[in-house]
Amino acid sequence: MKIKILGTAAAEGWPGIFCECSVCQKARKLGGKNIRTRSSILIGKEHKIDFPPDTYLHLVKYNISFSRIKYLFITHAHYDHYNPSDLLMRRFPPFTRTPLPSLKIYGNSLAQRWTFDLLKIMERNFEKNFPLYNFEFQVVEPFKEFRAGNLRILPLLANHDKSQICYNYLFSTSHWSFLQAFDTGWYPEETWEKLKEIASQKAFDLVIMDCTNGKIETGKKGGHLGIKEIIEMKKKLTSQGNIKNNSRFIATHFSHGGGLLHQELEKILLPEGIEVAFDGMEINLPER
Ligand SMILES: [Zn+2]
Ligand SMILES: [Zn+2]
Ligand SMILES: [Zn+2]
Repeated sequence: MKIKILGTAAAEGWPGIFCECSVCQKARKLGGKNIRTRSSILIGKEHKIDFPPDTYLHLVKYNISFSRIKYLFITHAHYDHYNPSDLLMRRFPPFTRTPLPSLKIYGNSLAQRWTFDLLKIMERNFEKNFPLYNFEFQVVEPFKEFRAGNLRILPLLANHDKSQICYNYLFSTSHWSFLQAFDTGWYPEETWEKLKEIASQKAFDLVIMDCTNGKIETGKKGGHLGIKEIIEMKKKLTSQGNIKNNSRFIATHFSHGGGLLHQELEKILLPEGIEVAFDGMEINLPER
């Protein structure tokens, strides 16, 4: 199964959309892996994590047909992870001239409210026309596993924004497992407990984790992680048996606020066994 990291930035993008700070200027000058769009990950061809404001850019940059996506997993209702206004373009006709396979969106109740409130404001006849959009929204519950196509999904609680339930999703088949871990803070006890419980089954093949704060230390709090905390998360996951030597561990969701460009991040994280994500990075998970 091919995992493709479409975007690796925090909310503002990197360079920040309205920012002229020194690290944003450096990113503009250096280009390459220092240019980061808002976070999203594609799993195979039918499953996608988050629907950021850069979704259209991802589509043209990577030559992906998003009409084939059947399952969309929203981590939480923050602007950089969920931009439901683009769902307007699913309407058949006139915005798509080809009928679409149905899309199932999974997320918390706030993301569900954003979806329907916004589309009703933007499209006068949305309620009447709803069948033309061919999607449905399913609110998921913490720690209640469900299936979507050929994947099993376990929603774990992140510690990111107290005003809503924020999810980190664990995706698995009988051959591989992948923990998506942005946006998160230090996990709450219930999540550590659940992770301990499932450690006996099989170690994760892949973890892609929040490193928003870069060199800024925030301690084991909610919100986001930085370098110090992601290293501690990796240590704890290793000690619990959730990851093994051959698990790939990748840092993502970087912000100019963290202050470190791609190569500077690699210099610190690679010796810790943590790879640094870049836009367009691909990982192949074993199918057997
Ligand atoms: Zn974010
Ligand atoms: Zn900046
Ligand atoms: Zn967030």
